Amino acid sequence: MKRSLLTLLSIGILLLCQCSEPNPYLHSDANKNGDRNAPASVTTLKITTLSTMLASQGIGEWGYSALVEADGQKILFDTGRKPETVLQNAEELGIDLSTVEHVFLSHNHGDHTGGLLELRNQLKKQNPLAISKIHVAEGIFSQRINFRNRMQEIKEEMEADGVTFFTYQENVELFPGVWATGPIDRIHKEKNYGGNWKIATKDGVKIDNIPEDQSLIINTDKGFVVVAGCGHAGIINTLEHVKSKIYDKPMHAIIGGFHLVKASDKHLAWTAQHLKKFGVSKIIGAHCTGINALYALKNALNLSRQDAVVGSVGDQFDIEQGISPGIIAG
Ligand SMILES: [Zn+2]
Ligand SMILES: [Zn+2]
Repeated sequence: MKRSLLTLLSIGILLLCQCSEPNPYLHSDANKNGDRNAPASVTTLKITTLSTMLASQGIGEWGYSALVEADGQKILFDTGRKPETVLQNAEELGIDLSTVEHVFLSHNHGDHTGGLLELRNQLKKQNPLAISKIHVAEGIFSQRINFRNRMQEIKEEMEADGVTFFTYQENVELFPGVWATGPIDRIHKEKNYGGNWKIATKDGVKIDNIPEDQSLIINTDKGFVVVAGCGHAGIINTLEHVKSKIYDKPMHAIIGGFHLVKASDKHLAWTAQHLKKFGVSKIIGAHCTGINALYALKNALNLSRQDAVVGSVGDQFDIEQGISPGIIAG
């Protein structure tokens, strides 16, 4: 009897030990504040703009792309509009993209996906694995009624060439401390898409609100860094989504396109108020953010010229050094 009790006790202790096995993803924040649910964070982070309208180096275009380097992982965020822009700009900036295997696509539009096929075709000559893992959200391959969805057209061709598309229906941690939001809940009425755009869904043709629009989230000791492509889901909806679905902590920096180019003064004031609430202290407003909109946010948030800049080709965000703007944007 005593022996079986002892055996039961040992099994219990063994089970308890297994349950409290430390999760390797829960390190830095968990150690600091004792919160075991805190996500992992990265220690090094550099984000370099490779496609946007303004360019002090390279060429500008209506599009967006940036290279994200986090703790040794390289992710190409969007691929610009024209097939050759990102390749040319990277070469001019002395950046070797042939070692980049992971691509993150914010949504299907051609000004974010136009370089994908050419990047794969050129860079695979140096590295067969270059541009071979593409992270996208549900809806990116759906048929559009008003225009040709290039992503739908090139999917099979790229898969036959050894490329894998990872399609997300919800947020997912791609690497420790680096997340894809997946499709974003539209809590607030940030309507950043054309009223006549239509999408074919299993329930019939609907208004195309670009359901696949997703952002890349990097957790750092200073807070989250959020990279957005065209902001169709709304930058505030995106931040709300990160807060409720990933973790509740300050949003240190927002980088990319926020689609505020046509926003009213009232909407900009509303946006600024929410950004303040989220603790945003650094902004690179590129692509469809709009130049006036960026300055409206800068003034409303009382940010210095070093901390709120218009994005330009070759500019850089570093988690330690902050923003290094392009000459034209400084
Ligand atoms: Zn778009
Ligand atoms: Zn865009």
